[in-house]
Amino acid sequence: MKMKVRNVMKKSVIMLVGLILVANLSACQTYTSGDNKCDICGKRATHTIGSEEYCGTHYKKATNWYVKKALDR
Ligand SMILES: [Zn+2]
Repeated sequence: MKMKVRNVMKKSVIMLVGLILVANLSACQTYTSGDNKCDICGKRATHTIGSEEYCGTHYKKATNWYVKKALDR
């Protein structure tokens, strides 16, 4: 019985940490600077997705990410 309770607590802690991580990540993704610089590396942005700005390299990575996300649904 005691072991079970401990496991449940462990799981909820892991879930909580996961939620915080996800919240941080999504906050990062919605962050917009509007200064024409890549939101990830700060280089001159050559592409935008919505209100997010990316350099050539990260634009490719971002589109891959969006495609992956869309396929996951
Ligand atoms: Zn970049």
